[in-house]
Amino acid sequence: MLHAYWAQLMRTFVRSQLGIMVFALGLCSASSLFINAYASEAYGAAPSNIKEHLDRLVLAYPNTIDRHDGKFLFMKNGTRFPISDNKTNKTFDELLAKPDIDDMFYVPYPAGSEPAQPARNSDPGRVRFEPLFVAMYGDCTKHEAVKNLRTIKWLPKHVGGSVTITRINGVDKALEAVSRELDELPNDLIKYLKPIAGTYNCRAIAGTNNKSMHAYAAAIDINSKFSNYWRWSSGSKRAPIWRNQIPIQIVHIFERHGFIWGGYWYHYDTMHFEYRPELLPSKGSAG
Ligand SMILES: [Zn+2]
Repeated sequence: MLHAYWAQLMRTFVRSQLGIMVFALGLCSASSLFINAYASEAYGAAPSNIKEHLDRLVLAYPNTIDRHDGKFLFMKNGTRFPISDNKTNKTFDELLAKPDIDDMFYVPYPAGSEPAQPARNSDPGRVRFEPLFVAMYGDCTKHEAVKNLRTIKWLPKHVGGSVTITRINGVDKALEAVSRELDELPNDLIKYLKPIAGTYNCRAIAGTNNKSMHAYAAAIDINSKFSNYWRWSSGSKRAPIWRNQIPIQIVHIFERHGFIWGGYWYHYDTMHFEYRPELLPSKGSAG
């Protein structure tokens, strides 16, 4: 009787140990799958159509960029920047913090497409090779960017006030053209556009050391009341849940004049538009 009891106890013990082992093995392989999924995210390789992107980059800034030869980007003032740092194993954080020129094109900007939850870490335009933008617009911490500011009227038909924006690369003229078109929109869309939340601001992007496009006076935030921002998302910091209230008609108008929209980013900022014509289909092209 006692023997049977011990035998039963041993069987139960072995079974439960086996259960724990199987469970632990399962947990290990699940977590290694999880780790592998993140480890396989290596950034830094140039996209296969990099030449096309570089051609477009030169065309986008005819006043400041002279040419490229595939290895270097030559500025009109004589400085040159290497296209690649030859690193192809960057983490996403490294891609953002220290990109080279080809990294700026790591994902295509979905111009004109229906807004929707972007793919993981798809932030077209959010990766910027800072020395290029400083060379074009000036370093705001040295009071260079401020010299190029111009004040323009914003939505004059709707008394939108005025905004200051850079003159470099004709961003002021582009924003005036945007304002003229927005001014013709139906009244129910005007609430998204005024009061604006800001243009020039010599600051780094929240949580980083990188300069925001606002530091170059080449970006505008429309009415913050209807804005959604990934850092305020109900999801986690690693997996923000995408939200947007900005109507697509507004996005189309900005894009027509060289501005990209922060609503197409995984790390979204839906009130944000910045002048990045190199990411948009060039004017007159089929795209
Ligand atoms: Zn902004």
